[in-house]
Amino acid sequence: MWIARTLGGMTGEHEAGEPTPRVLLAKPRGYCAGVDRAVVAVEKALETYGAPVYVRKEIVHNRHVVKTLAERGAVFVEETDEVPEGATVVFSAHGVSPAVHAQAASRELRTVDATCPLVTKVHQEAKRFARDDYDILLIGHEGHEEVEGTAGEAPEHVQLVDGPGAVDQVTVRDPEKVIWLSQTTLSVDETLETVRALRERFPSLADPPSDDICYATQNRQVAVKQMAPECDLVLVVGSRNSSNSVRLVEVALQAGASAAYLVDHAGEIDASWLEGVTTVGVTSGASVPEILVGEVLHWLADRGWADVEEITTANEKLTFSLPRELKRDMKPQAVR
Ligand code: SF4
Repeated sequence: MWIARTLGGMTGEHEAGEPTPRVLLAKPRGYCAGVDRAVVAVEKALETYGAPVYVRKEIVHNRHVVKTLAERGAVFVEETDEVPEGATVVFSAHGVSPAVHAQAASRELRTVDATCPLVTKVHQEAKRFARDDYDILLIGHEGHEEVEGTAGEAPEHVQLVDGPGAVDQVTVRDPEKVIWLSQTTLSVDETLETVRALRERFPSLADPPSDDICYATQNRQVAVKQMAPECDLVLVVGSRNSSNSVRLVEVALQAGASAAYLVDHAGEIDASWLEGVTTVGVTSGASVPEILVGEVLHWLADRGWADVEEITTANEKLTFSLPRELKRDMKPQAVR
């Protein structure tokens, strides 16, 4: 059975006596506009240019997506110097630094830039504030591709701040000319904590012109916060290197779920997690195809958790058009 609830419509209906096993399914969940665009960009590049099409880094942080595209002829590489001269390379949704664009140009690669437009927006902010000679404090996770790309726009102006614990080590040239920016896929609450700590040290700290944590990250966290207090267990479908998926586990626990786990697919669920559990929350990160959530719901239904209520906190309608260079080369009827 599948019924829907919207924000404010919590009922928590249980049969009298024995509590009924049930699933709360967060909405929004799964693919965001930037991931959808990046995955379709690789598919269209394969159709337009033919296999192999090289992809620098994982196009999005999901093992299933990467494996499926690899089976269709995408070749995933770490750096552009692994791509044969003259071949086609797609840059991932996480973005790349100007140095990577320059390397690709020097090897005469045909490039398709699938950087999410919301990541590009943060790059533009970094460039603009670097031009104005600000010290830019970039809140994000050390080693994440997005952070490397954004910092690479202005390496002499950007310092990484990896959470509230890193604030003490920050040094700036002029405390009156400091701005913070952030990775798009962070925990909203933890980022605000980092900003508070930074502002204690630098009271004139300027805010970004608009939210850097993207709509999809925020919406998925809001949906999880809504359902988590009712959940004995929350299952987040997503890969371990997916920042926004890992954050959903943290947010679920902070919001009151008794337990929360990240699973790449249904096969990773441990049946012992269900012991003593009545209500299971299910959600998925922004890079996760819905088919993987469907498999988790089937796995739960087979074990008695067949009642599914969808908890809706937002309806997303945003879409992004494909990269310009790809649209130019596609057959007219295939352009979207
Ligand atoms: S999570 Fe946000 S920033 Fe990342 S691809 Fe999706 S919409 Fe873009």
